[in-house]
Amino acid sequence: MTAKKAIVLFSGGQDSTTCLAWALSRFGRVETVGFDYGQRNGAELAARQRILSRMRSEFSDWAKRLGSDHLLSLEVLKQIGGNALTDNVKIAMSESGLPNTFVPGRNIFFLTAAAALAYRRECRDLVGGMCEADYSGYPDCRADTMEAVTHALNLGMDTHFTIHTPLMKLDKAATWAFAEQLGGKALIDLIVEETVSCYEGDREHRRAWGYGCGKCPACNLRARGYERYVSP
Ligand code: ZN
Repeated sequence: MTAKKAIVLFSGGQDSTTCLAWALSRFGRVETVGFDYGQRNGAELAARQRILSRMRSEFSDWAKRLGSDHLLSLEVLKQIGGNALTDNVKIAMSESGLPNTFVPGRNIFFLTAAAALAYRRECRDLVGGMCEADYSGYPDCRADTMEAVTHALNLGMDTHFTIHTPLMKLDKAATWAFAEQLGGKALIDLIVEETVSCYEGDREHRRAWGYGCGKCPACNLRARGYERYVSP
């Protein structure tokens, strides 16, 4: 445990909720930042508030350390468009070999905005759920990208940020197990009930692993990980 403050990039999904729990177990003060970039479904943004409120009411140790939540607008990503998260198009693979849910440079925008906020709030530790072990192949989730972005931020703001990515090497089954280690069954229950990973933002169909359409790549990843977590 350190007395330092961290800012967690918190989207309302499984991964960033696990990262928030990790930060709350390790930093003296934790703030959260989310981004409104014109996502087609508002389900993730709604989930953020439910998760924060349950963290405050059900985890007394964490509640003491959980500080302000910030929501920043990055509408520019919707203006640029061309992806299935902000445009009304069907999720598919594109010619580049990436799914069309890829928003070019999204994590670079997020980290730059989060770092600028952190700078103002006298915080130098950022936490994000980027993962290169079990993901859709997004190049802005790679450890190499994180290292380069850290370098650019430190040069550009003449300071010393650390970007923590506790899930970088974990597959989805390991991420479920990690959450259990951090917050026990209570955290697993919160993640299942409240977090949104589904690209469609489906809150109608409740599965063992939570709500989701059960068909999109994010649901598939979450479902397969959960199966391997409960019966390794
Ligand atoms: Zn889905």
